[in-house]
Amino acid sequence: MEIFTYKNKKINIIYNNDNESFNTASLLKEKLTEKGYIIPKKYDYDAMINICVGGDGAFLRAVHDYGFPEIPFVGVNTGHLGFFQEISPNNLEEFINALDKQDFTIDSLYLVEALVCTRTSCIELIGVNEIVVKGIQSKTIHLNISINDTYLERFSGDGVIISTPMGSSAYNFSAGGSIVYPTLGVLQLTPLAPINSKVYRSLTTSAIIPINMIVNLSPEYRDENSILIVVDGKQHKYENIVEINLKISDMKLQLLNLGKHNFWSNVRNKFL
Ligand code: NAP
Ligand code: MN
Repeated sequence: MEIFTYKNKKINIIYNNDNESFNTASLLKEKLTEKGYIIPKKYDYDAMINICVGGDGAFLRAVHDYGFPEIPFVGVNTGHLGFFQEISPNNLEEFINALDKQDFTIDSLYLVEALVCTRTSCIELIGVNEIVVKGIQSKTIHLNISINDTYLERFSGDGVIISTPMGSSAYNFSAGGSIVYPTLGVLQLTPLAPINSKVYRSLTTSAIIPINMIVNLSPEYRDENSILIVVDGKQHKYENIVEINLKISDMKLQLLNLGKHNFWSNVRNKFL
């Protein structure tokens, strides 16, 4: 948590491509303009806040589209699960009042980072929820997994999820992983349909990896060209992958906290 000072009155409103999000964004723009805020026509890299109207998917896309900005995000949820969103379209007034009084704090979210090295070059990827390493066209893949240079296992199965604490309630949760409190600096390595037989042996449960430790995934030679990397739901395909190193990023993502978000009540409300 840190104190936030306004550097200007510019607010970006980013909205999902559906009627409710469009209407909510229009209303929000009207109300904010009345209060003297400036809503730039195009995304402004110097704005003080990014408001994202939609669901978690819209939020994740906005973060990626604008290159993981330092500008804090706040979400308005329009008819989706909205795990990241704190505002509902019927409490816009309350939100604007809080904004006026600077009655909020800022949370920093841990991000997951991957360095994907092929035979010729390395590419960096970054995720808010998770980075998934799996086989293309539903193939079984075989990955040698090491943690900080200590060999752990030869994984065989659909793939693995490397999730952030915030992403622990997303794909990770569906795959049987645990929900992790967002302030904990850990990654979760969760297997996807691990094979356990007389031929293959893989961990069947998640492993929790502390900050500063590196998860190294080296696909077997025959799998070099059958690997898909999925970052927050977006697919990336590279030829001749030799290794993938994953860790908690030094970069963080800022999220406005209006004091309405109690993590555990959010878990109850959204999942139970
Ligand atoms: P999507 O298919 O709409 O996402 C699936 C669901 O996950 C949506 O209901 C989404 O919320 C929710 N979600 C996203 N981030 C979450 C989080 N941190 N905690 C709890 N729920 C969360 O696709 P999308 O909206 O573009 O989201 C991409 C994410 O989908 C990926 O990062 C991955 O975690 C997740 N995913 C899940 C599965 C699975 O559970 N089997 C498979 C593939 C991908 P909204 O309805 O608000 O968008
Ligand atoms: Mn979605």
